[in-house]
Amino acid sequence: MHFPFCKHLCNYCDFYKFVPNSFEDIEKHQKNLQLNYEVVSKLHSDNGYTWGELDTLFLGGGTPSLWGVEGARYLKNKFEDWNISLKSSGENTVEFNPGSLDDKTLQSFLDSGFNRFSIGMQSLNPTFLKILDRIHSLEDCFEILKLMKKANVNYSIDLMIGLPYGHEKKRDVIDELKRAMVYDPSHFSVYILTVKENYLHPIPDEDYIADEYLKVSEFLNTHGFNQYEVSNFSKVGFESQHNLKYWDSESVAALGPSATGFLVEKRKRYKCGPNYQHIKIENLTKKEFTLEKIYMKLRTKTGISIETLEDRSKAMALRKKWNSLGLLNETSPEIISLNANGFLLIDSLINELI
Ligand code: SF4
Repeated sequence: MHFPFCKHLCNYCDFYKFVPNSFEDIEKHQKNLQLNYEVVSKLHSDNGYTWGELDTLFLGGGTPSLWGVEGARYLKNKFEDWNISLKSSGENTVEFNPGSLDDKTLQSFLDSGFNRFSIGMQSLNPTFLKILDRIHSLEDCFEILKLMKKANVNYSIDLMIGLPYGHEKKRDVIDELKRAMVYDPSHFSVYILTVKENYLHPIPDEDYIADEYLKVSEFLNTHGFNQYEVSNFSKVGFESQHNLKYWDSESVAALGPSATGFLVEKRKRYKCGPNYQHIKIENLTKKEFTLEKIYMKLRTKTGISIETLEDRSKAMALRKKWNSLGLLNETSPEIISLNANGFLLIDSLINELI
């Protein structure tokens, strides 16, 4: 579920989002979500799907913490109206940004059934927060970390690497991770910054970024956070169940402008449009779907089983080659599971495999 509002638009971000002029814009979003729900429900029922008890929910942005107490209440009521229930044993995540959360808002999201929080921190260094055009301060970062720890909740921290001037200004991401770990997060997502052409800052060269990525991977893997996907690290049992559904190519429903859903048995992907009523549907061929499944699975530590691939002997030969290059985890010879060195090359490896 997508909440498309932010206090400020960061200079590198190309998500669909805008700054609300007033609470009226958010009220309009709420009204439009009802229309969106009706269109999405029709698409689902036309294809034999019904709403029910959700295993997982992810409310992302934008900046959902801006929705505040009002948003948490709205969602609780809407889920009842829409006959959508959240499993008590399920994983229901909402994204919060530093500087946009207080005790009351946290409590109201907890009361509405959310039980996992994803914090858009990006850096714990004020120089790089500024370069990234984030409006939160280092103090805001520590304030939200303290709030998470005090509330004793399950939460994840998003950080970015490959930042402009990282080399020149000697960014020490390991030190940032160490400082964050004091506050007991259960999960880190560490993304390499991707920017549009003509971005206003120069980004570091590939070798620097690869080195930073491998350092992060090694540090987290040796400090209790298992790398279970290209950009994701968790304590045992705290992997993001919601994202695992994407990587396992399971069906997901989408609500909110720019949210993407997938009806697996029908091989249909859909994207909700900015006017909430138009849904763009993409029908995948069997071959496209198979390739996508391989791509998604290779992103995870689980990897792919050679028996699911068409040409077993070619796959075995490729596995042997990648293993000798140090790109694979030690697993059964029937599994292709990339390690951090392999993840760095994932696009070219997938091309080779395909
Ligand atoms: S807060 Fe997040 S979604 Fe909003 S503009 Fe910045 S990066 Fe994009």
